[in-house]
Amino acid sequence: MYLHEVETLDSASLAELQSRRLVELIGRLRRVESPFWSAKLADVGEVRAIGDLIALPFTEKHEFLATYPHGMLAVSMSQVVRIHASSGTSGKPIIVAYTADDIRIFAQVNARALSAVGATSDDVVHIAYGYGLFTGGLGLHYGVEELGATAVPASGGNPGFQVGLMADAMATGLASTPSFALILAERAEAAGVKGDIRLRWGIHGAEPWSEGLREKLETAWGGGYDACDIYGLSEVIGPGVAVECRENKGGMHVFEDHFYPEIVDPETGEPVPTGEPGELVLTTLTKQAQPVIRYRTRDITRILGGDCPCGRTSRRIGRLEGRIDDMLIIRGINVYPRTIETVLMSDPALGPNYAIVIDRRGQLPELEARVEVADASLTADAETIGARLESRLMETVRLRIPVMVGEPGSVPRSEMGKAKRVYERTGDEDPLGWSFTVST
Ligand SMILES: [Zn+2]
Repeated sequence: MYLHEVETLDSASLAELQSRRLVELIGRLRRVESPFWSAKLADVGEVRAIGDLIALPFTEKHEFLATYPHGMLAVSMSQVVRIHASSGTSGKPIIVAYTADDIRIFAQVNARALSAVGATSDDVVHIAYGYGLFTGGLGLHYGVEELGATAVPASGGNPGFQVGLMADAMATGLASTPSFALILAERAEAAGVKGDIRLRWGIHGAEPWSEGLREKLETAWGGGYDACDIYGLSEVIGPGVAVECRENKGGMHVFEDHFYPEIVDPETGEPVPTGEPGELVLTTLTKQAQPVIRYRTRDITRILGGDCPCGRTSRRIGRLEGRIDDMLIIRGINVYPRTIETVLMSDPALGPNYAIVIDRRGQLPELEARVEVADASLTADAETIGARLESRLMETVRLRIPVMVGEPGSVPRSEMGKAKRVYERTGDEDPLGWSFTVST
């Protein structure tokens, strides 16, 4: 365990550390000469402990855009050593800034995350997250170096070249999106180098993914491969906000000595009880350049109770259940693409790639699912498999969602960054280029 002492703090000591850090943060922000921070804290009373956080105002994504590029800075620009950016909704990106201390903490939380999935200084880590403005590549890269392991900065794209490099450089760990990890496994198999790659573990984030997808990923790489989820967002720091430990997959430890989690009702903003789903809200307790107070992540999850067999005492959040922005309303029913994935990926006859099509040609939008069989020999059973999935979707989502089953390779793959899972159909042309139509 990296940073054993901090990761095993008892709850009273952790609360004391969080309180001290929050008080320092608010004190510092009150002294900053910044219209943004003066306005944000104008009505905030005395803050003495972490429990006082609940009286502070939220921060929302649109505030990043309203203050673009640097209106949320809490230090002078001369103290900033790096910026990253993520795509916004209205053309301009969201820009986030880091001091040297922020970069140190960024490296440290990623080293802790890597250690939780089983990495040690002996590992050779193939990093296939995009490098550049996106926080994924450099975030994990600095974490690997902080841990003392070997970083291979492969970045995204060119999977054929990457699998050869993984074999030759003797990679033992893989950091990438889950969809790219699947593409690499497919390519390694096709190129005949799968047997030469000895991965022990993978750390996969930047996309929500289901337990079914984990099973397919662990089977695809074989050999006891542990596929673990890592969570983060650039508004908070990047990857390394929370991670699954390999001893207890299914939930993620939040590094809450730096990032304090709350779960609120997305409509009212009121806290929900432990174990109930709601919107994840995060406060950066230690960030210098661009802290956030009660940032509404738009991600739906819950706080999980109970101790963890790995010995870490930080609270765990459930794996993401969806993004509020991704929620579809179909015939009055709220549907998250992630729920559909969970149903589809639990079927052993299917390969790991799928797509959801929102058909907007009629008055009301309708959904369709597109999947592919795991093996060409199953193509003959396509109709049976489709019917089985439709009835499971009906039970889970309470909607009739036609499922079209294609041959292996018929769902488009994304060879860069995040996989595209949701497509819109507005005209005659099929968004996936499939030629047959669904009877309704
Ligand atoms: Zn654990």
